[in-house]
Amino acid sequence: MIGLGREQDQDCFIEEQVRTDRLHQLFRQSFAAIFGSYLAAALLCWLCWDRFDHQIILVWLGAQAVSSLLRLKMFLEWFRCPTSERTPERWERRYWVTLILSAGIWGIGALAVMPTDDRLSQALVILFAVGMSVSAVSCYSAYRYLTLTSMGLVLLPCTLWLLLQPSSMQVGVAVAVLMFSTFVVSATHKLSDALEKAFRLTRQMERAHKLSTVAAQTDELTGLMNRRAFYENAQLLYTQCRQNQQPLCALMLDMDHFKQINDTYGHQAGDQVLRQIGGVISSSFRQADVYGRLGGEEFAVLLPNTSLDTARNIAEQLVKAISHMVAEPVKGVTASLGVASSQTLDQDLHSLMNTADKALYRAKALGRNQVAVAE
Ligand code: GH3
Ligand code: MG
Ligand code: MG
Repeated sequence: MIGLGREQDQDCFIEEQVRTDRLHQLFRQSFAAIFGSYLAAALLCWLCWDRFDHQIILVWLGAQAVSSLLRLKMFLEWFRCPTSERTPERWERRYWVTLILSAGIWGIGALAVMPTDDRLSQALVILFAVGMSVSAVSCYSAYRYLTLTSMGLVLLPCTLWLLLQPSSMQVGVAVAVLMFSTFVVSATHKLSDALEKAFRLTRQMERAHKLSTVAAQTDELTGLMNRRAFYENAQLLYTQCRQNQQPLCALMLDMDHFKQINDTYGHQAGDQVLRQIGGVISSSFRQADVYGRLGGEEFAVLLPNTSLDTARNIAEQLVKAISHMVAEPVKGVTASLGVASSQTLDQDLHSLMNTADKALYRAKALGRNQVAVAE
């Protein structure tokens, strides 16, 4: 049940990321549209300067300037705002409001400037409106309903007016515009779907990659680093300590008579002991230390910037903590530890680990449940 809940949480998280990706795409794609839509209106007015009512032109361009400035202000705030605050909750509604305002002004203004008795101007206005609505597809494709709403607001006022005119040519143009629009509407559907799928797939792949990387580095039983991850991190730490001329100590830990524990209490009880040892180790060391399960019932720890004396004390505390561990029904869980310092035998990581391993065998030979330090 817990696994299922976590899966659902992860799915919700991916959906949230996809929503955010769409928003980012929207802002990236549509900045130029602010200037494009204003320029289109200005160009149309310039072309038809002698045919349009000048007062209406001025009111239309003035209203457009205000709505464009509002959109520009929103974009500037978006660019200035930190990525963590660029969330759909914060920006989607605002984007909708400014776009509806701007597209509405465009569409209603186009109808207002269009002379009722001049076919050429009407054709030009409808040409610009169609161009504007088609470019909406490329600007707002991440949001299907945003695209459709802005297209409708720009195109419908003039088209519906033409549709209601007595001339068959005007009605024909309106019908043609509506017919072309149906293709565009279907294209918006496919485009926004494809974009959403691409965003979702990218996020799912990122998640799968992250999970597989963690799985490849983690020991399943104890949750500690596995052998490979331990040696990778250990090598980095060894090089770093060498460069900074810091002492580095290695601890090798092996459980005592673990075969006997398995034979007496069963393999599952043995596994439980190993899990507990993993817990003791991860709670005993610093973030800078590197520790992991090398395999079986063997563990290793690297302590950077630590003297041999300190390392010996830490190892003794660990031996004590393990021998005091309550691991019902298993009794008498102990471990032996070997300690070595890079300062005594300064060759490479593997020789340091070997030296610690030899010390560990000495601890075993001396009677187990104790620490031996490499000379
Ligand atoms: P010593 O004190 O000399 O180390 O004796 P030991 O019995 O611990 O040493 P040995 O290496 O001979 O045996 C280790 C045992 O650990 C053998 C194996 O059954 C057990 N073991 C290794 N991996 C696991 C594991 O993942 N789970 C369990 N339950 N046991 C394991
Ligand atoms: Mg062993
Ligand atoms: Mg052992």
